[in-house]
Amino acid sequence: MRPKAGFRRPELAIGYGWDSHEFKPGIPLKIGGVQLPHVKGLGGHSDGDVLLHAITDALLGAIAAPDIGTLFSPSDARWKGADSAVFLAEAMRRVKAAGYAIANIDSTLILLQPKISSHAARIRQRISELLGISAYTISVKAKTPEGMGTENAAIAHAIVLLKRAASVARRQK
Ligand code: MG
Repeated sequence: MRPKAGFRRPELAIGYGWDSHEFKPGIPLKIGGVQLPHVKGLGGHSDGDVLLHAITDALLGAIAAPDIGTLFSPSDARWKGADSAVFLAEAMRRVKAAGYAIANIDSTLILLQPKISSHAARIRQRISELLGISAYTISVKAKTPEGMGTENAAIAHAIVLLKRAASVARRQK
């Protein structure tokens, strides 16, 4: 649904995304665009990057765009084994086209293993490169799934805040 003529987007927009993928043996583990050493990887139609999927959906949600599953259908052979950076790039293209820049991103991973703390800096750096924003505006936290029964899955929650891009703000003054 395209906005009607005269619709003015808000100064700030918030977006939320969530995803989960199941661990499968014998495939590489990619989280936040970084390959991590682990005995199992995350299954999925694409590369299974649960964190990039959650951030992609948060960006799309903030501008009320169609979600990741609608834009990149798991039944579409084009996205088989796809690098999830492609999905993130399309979400960022739409965010910019809507006149926004990212203020900050916060995220939480929920998984038993591997421990994320020693990789978090690298993940933040990679996401900052993919989105063209400072790593200081990207938070990547992780928790273990106490009492949730999701030991064989990785879950990611992400929230983003968008602010009107400086060029757009100037034009509208
Ligand atoms: Mg996914």
